[in-house]
Amino acid sequence: MIDIRSDTVTKPSERMREAARNADVGDDVHRGDPTVKELESRVAELVGMEASLLVPSGTMGNQIAAMTHTKKGEEVIVESKSHIYNWEVGGLAQHSGLQVRPIDGGKRGIPKPEQIYESYSTKTLHSSGTGLLSLENTHNRKGGIAIEPKKIDGAAEAAHELGFPVHLDGARLFNAAVALDVPATRLTRNVDSVMFCLSKGLGAPVGSMLAGEEEFIERARRNRKLLGGGMRQAGIIAAPGLVSLENIDRLSKDHKNASLLAEGLNEYEGVDVQPPETNIVLIDTSESGMTASEFLDACESEGVLGSEFGDYVVRFCTHLDVDEEAIKTAVDRVGAVLS
Ligand SMILES: *Cc1c(COP(=O)(O)O)cnc(C)c1O
Repeated sequence: MIDIRSDTVTKPSERMREAARNADVGDDVHRGDPTVKELESRVAELVGMEASLLVPSGTMGNQIAAMTHTKKGEEVIVESKSHIYNWEVGGLAQHSGLQVRPIDGGKRGIPKPEQIYESYSTKTLHSSGTGLLSLENTHNRKGGIAIEPKKIDGAAEAAHELGFPVHLDGARLFNAAVALDVPATRLTRNVDSVMFCLSKGLGAPVGSMLAGEEEFIERARRNRKLLGGGMRQAGIIAAPGLVSLENIDRLSKDHKNASLLAEGLNEYEGVDVQPPETNIVLIDTSESGMTASEFLDACESEGVLGSEFGDYVVRFCTHLDVDEEAIKTAVDRVGAVLS
């Protein structure tokens, strides 16, 4: 079975397992875990922020960020197809009492400065007031779009001019950085906080990082405790997390494989494949007469797993456990479904 449902399906490498086994640990709730501290300082530097915090998942990282940046009752400007708005169980409302104002970020999933000005709400007797702008890079739902630094800057500058902070959901931040050939710090330069996942393309078994100013991270640490994310001997997961940072440069291989997959599938009739920018390939199945779900069932019988992304949209996602050979095989197997 070739499993390209998601880059979350990777298994930890031997080195990661060894690192976990040998990790120097302590109680991280009491700031006593040296491996967690090492990871947090390495990551802060990597994303150009003062401090960072290890959290169990990307969802928790995003939710803590929103909670830490805002006050109950405020509004968060989100992109209509963003993860934080669609796939986090309404957490902004549930955990932080926030109201969302979704705006359509178009094909690339990035709001324009003028849309942010239009969506801004001043705090008055009657209105909630905008407390945060949340951006996403790469944009998952739009097809792993690597959003250019200038576009992030434009949105962030509008928010700052209006007086509220910006969070970047960078679950796949390094996929964006590698695809755009810029350091990750260029993508985070004008945002106030960033979350990225150790557990996706980087291949760690567990964990995400939230980074920002020292003072922000101190308050975020308290909110992590509130949400039940304070962990004890977390060096066990920080150690493979440190190893996973070595996988940043190899993300370009996943991107090459995604292009190979897209080009291969484009040879067949019945599917419309969006040219990938990173490791995500979106396929429109409508011309095949199959729904996404029917298409995926047929792919599964041929030995390829993908995920449903809409009634007629399928997502394949390349990762470090599928090599070029496996991708070529996947193309042939999906081809068998289409012919
Ligand atoms: C996966 C993902 C998250 C959440 O990460 P989890 O670790 O699965 O909770 C957040 N944002 C985006 C864009 C993602 O793709």
